Amino acid sequence: MGKFGWSLPPGVSHRMIDEAYGVEEPCECCGKFVDDCICEECPKCGEYGDPKCYKGYFKEDHGMEYSAEQLAGQKELADAIEDERMRDDAMYEEYLREEKYDGEQEERKIQRARYDDPSIFKSNSDE
Ligand SMILES: [Zn+2]
Ligand SMILES: [Zn+2]
Repeated sequence: MGKFGWSLPPGVSHRMIDEAYGVEEPCECCGKFVDDCICEECPKCGEYGDPKCYKGYFKEDHGMEYSAEQLAGQKELADAIEDERMRDDAMYEEYLREEKYDGEQEERKIQRARYDDPSIFKSNSDE
C-alpha cells in the first residue's frame, strides 16, 4: 500500500521536507514567506499558517478565519504562481515547437497505418 505513490511517514509534513531540502515555501495561509508569516497561532492545535485550521477546509476545521491581510497575501501569492506558470508555459511551448516536427512525423505514421488497415473502422454490422 502506497509503495509506489508519494507517501510520507506519519508525522512528517511536506513543510518539514521542504525545510530539510532548504526550500523556502511561502505560507499557504498568508502568502508570505515563513519568516514574514503574519498568521496567528491556532487556538486548537497551536499551528501557524496551516490551512487545515481555517474554516471551510475540512468539516472538522479549527474554526479560524482569514484576515483581510491574509486574503490579500493569498491573492498576491496566487498571482505570483500564475505568473510563473505562464512563464513555464511559454518555455514549454518553445520546447514543443522544437519537438513538433518529430511529433507530426509520428502522427502521420499512425494515420497511414489506419489507411493501410481499414478494418479498424469497420463496425460489426458490416458484411
Ligand atoms: Zn502565514
Ligand atoms: Zn489548528
